[in-house]
Formats: sequence, structure tokens, C-alpha cells
Amino acid sequence: MTRQKSFLNETRTLYLVATPIGNISDITIRALELLKSVDIIYCEDKRNSLKLLTHYNIKVPLKSYHEFNKEKASKTIIEDFNKYQKIALISDAGTPVISDPGYELVKILIEKEFNIVSIPGASAFLSALIVSGLETKPFIYYGFLSEKETKRKSELENLRYQKMTLIFYEAPHRLKKTLTAILEVLGNRQIVIARELTKKFEEIIRGTANELLMIEEDLKGEIVLVVEGNKDLPDFSAITIEEHVKSFIKDGLTKNEAIKKVAQERNIPKNEVYKKCLNKDN
Ligand code: SAM
Repeated sequence: MTRQKSFLNETRTLYLVATPIGNISDITIRALELLKSVDIIYCEDKRNSLKLLTHYNIKVPLKSYHEFNKEKASKTIIEDFNKYQKIALISDAGTPVISDPGYELVKILIEKEFNIVSIPGASAFLSALIVSGLETKPFIYYGFLSEKETKRKSELENLRYQKMTLIFYEAPHRLKKTLTAILEVLGNRQIVIARELTKKFEEIIRGTANELLMIEEDLKGEIVLVVEGNKDLPDFSAITIEEHVKSFIKDGLTKNEAIKKVAQERNIPKNEVYKKCLNKDN
């Protein structure tokens, strides 16, 4: 167990600072003050971050921390902490560590007992969720599905029985393929495309998978997909796990197939179902 009293100790601190997702004004006063006060700012792309920092007259040395140098850069950050007290991490847009690099760094620094402090602000998935009109709790933030078609489908298979609202990030050139996969695997659900959030061409498109697939124009820009959870799930409280497995075996599935299906439908680990059925004459 570790306990971090963020503002009551003298420990060196990594600040995870949220920056705008499009509209340059979407940054908090605290974030601006903090960015002015740190010793170094680590960012994904210096050119991109310089635009923001110059706009707000922030003149702090910039260093790179991105997907392709993150191991080496983590070591540099730890070395920098020998000299400096406060370091900030920002990403190209939104909240660092959310589908952006930083997770490994946070883990390493926690192990080394540094403070990790969040300076909250914009994140595309949260803006998309609240304007979607779909249930806002509970929800699953999934990030990007795999670029590979088979993997993408199997990821969706694993989400098929989730009652929770699902949130994905998607690139515009993959949008149609992903909507088609959602239709095939999850069914004709309500989906919201939140595009170019906070920017001039912001657009929120609400409809079923079929309706959205009928849009002919190429939807460009940055996209969040919010997908309704599975609303057709039966109530399993009246039937035990063993009975549930037996009912699938009766329908012709093998024991293993039945266990897998029950685990998916109830959204519980396969192992748990397996244990319940162990030594039972199914
Ligand atoms: N860290 C960011 C956050 O907190 O949202 C996400 C970074 S991820 C590399 C970039 C993806 O976020 C985009 O491909 C898109 O799916 C989504 N995104 C970012 N800005 C967006 C915006 N203004 N409108 C819609 N989606 C956006």
C-alpha cells in the first residue's frame, strides 16, 4: 500500500496536465498557472505544443515524451527529477495517458514514490458521452479498437453482452468499417458519432448503425463513437450459473462452448463458470 498526500509533502511531482481538444480556450486557469511554474514540460510533439504554449506566453523548456521514445524518455525524466522538483506531461490534445502515452511513466514513478498529480480538463470521450443522449453510467471507455479486422471483430465480440454504454475513439478512414463491424457483431444499436468536438465543424450525429451507414459523404476529422449498451439481455437472477450452462448444452453446445457463452452473457470470468460446473454432471 502507498499513500500520497499530494499537497502536504515536499516530494517531486509529475503533473499530468490536460490541454484543449480543439478549442484553444479549453484549458483551465490552474493548468496555465501550473505550466508556467514547472521546470520542464514533456510533450508528444514539440511543434504542436509550442503553438499552445506560445499562445499563452509560457516559456518553459520542452522535451519529448512520445510513443516511440517513451522508455528512454522515462529514464531522462527520472534523471531530471535529480535536479528539478516539478515536471509536467502534456499530450497533443486532451488528457495525457488517455489513449496517449504516459501510463508506463506513471507506473514507474509511483514505484519510485514520486507524486503523480492530475490537472484536469478536456477529454474527448467525456464530452462525447455527455452530449450523446445515451446512458452516462455505467460506461466503458475502450479507446481505439484494433486496426486489424479480425482482431477488431473479436474485441467487439467480447463487448457484445455488455449492458454498459461503450465509447470508442476512431480514425475517419476506418469509420465505415467499424460501423459495419458494430452492426454485424453488436446489432443495430443506437450510436452517436461525435466529430470535431469543440471545433468549428463540430457535429453530433445520432442514429442507429444502419442509419449511420447510409451517410454517403466521408465524415472527416476526429471522431468519438458512443454506442448504446446491450439492452436485450435477459435477467439472470432467476437462473443459476449451472442451470444456465445446462440450458445451452441442451440447445446442442458442447460444455466448453456453453461455459464460454454463459461467461460472456453474464460478463463474468470463464473460470468462475467453469468452477461452478466442476464435478457437476452437465
Ligand atoms: N488524450 C486524448 C483525450 O483525452 O481525449 C485522446 C488522444 S487520442 C491519440 C486521439 C483521438 O481522440 C482521436 O483520434 C479522436 O478519436 C479523439 N479526439 C480527440 N480530439 C477530438 C475531438 N476534438 N473531437 C472528437 N474526437 C476527438
